[in-house]
Amino acid sequence: MENFRKITVSKRIAMVAHDNRKVELLDWANSNREQLSKNKLYATGTTGKLLEALLNQPVELLLSGPLGGDQQVGSMIAEERIDLLVFFWDPMSAQPHDPDVKALLRLCVVWNIPVASNRATADFIFTSPLMNEDYIAVQTDYTKYLNRVV
Ligand code: PGA
Repeated sequence: MENFRKITVSKRIAMVAHDNRKVELLDWANSNREQLSKNKLYATGTTGKLLEALLNQPVELLLSGPLGGDQQVGSMIAEERIDLLVFFWDPMSAQPHDPDVKALLRLCVVWNIPVASNRATADFIFTSPLMNEDYIAVQTDYTKYLNRVV
């Protein structure tokens, strides 16, 4: 059995970049400023401040990633308050908050959230016609799990 979740034209986008990928994210955001301006932006603290300065668009700032920001994004996803995640994580360095990174990526699968971890995926998502339409996301029904006998 499945549930549905409506993602509206104006989307709630969370953005996160590890330090070694912040320049890449900013460069990508600069190339996509028009599409970004149509949406509501959220970001982890340091990434968000840089984005706000670059885009001249309000960005709702969460805590810095290693201080709990990734977990805040995860909880917003679980509460259906985020529609899409652009998360440029660093594949070449261990992070102090690696468990939080894994947890965030896991919740994107649990809640069927589109997530871009690199520029090509972000380009494909942002040029999709679905960016300018409402979209009905299929949501796995966890009722059976919630009602399991323990
Ligand atoms: P930051 O956090 O935007 O505060 O640097 C990013 C992260 O490491 O998750």
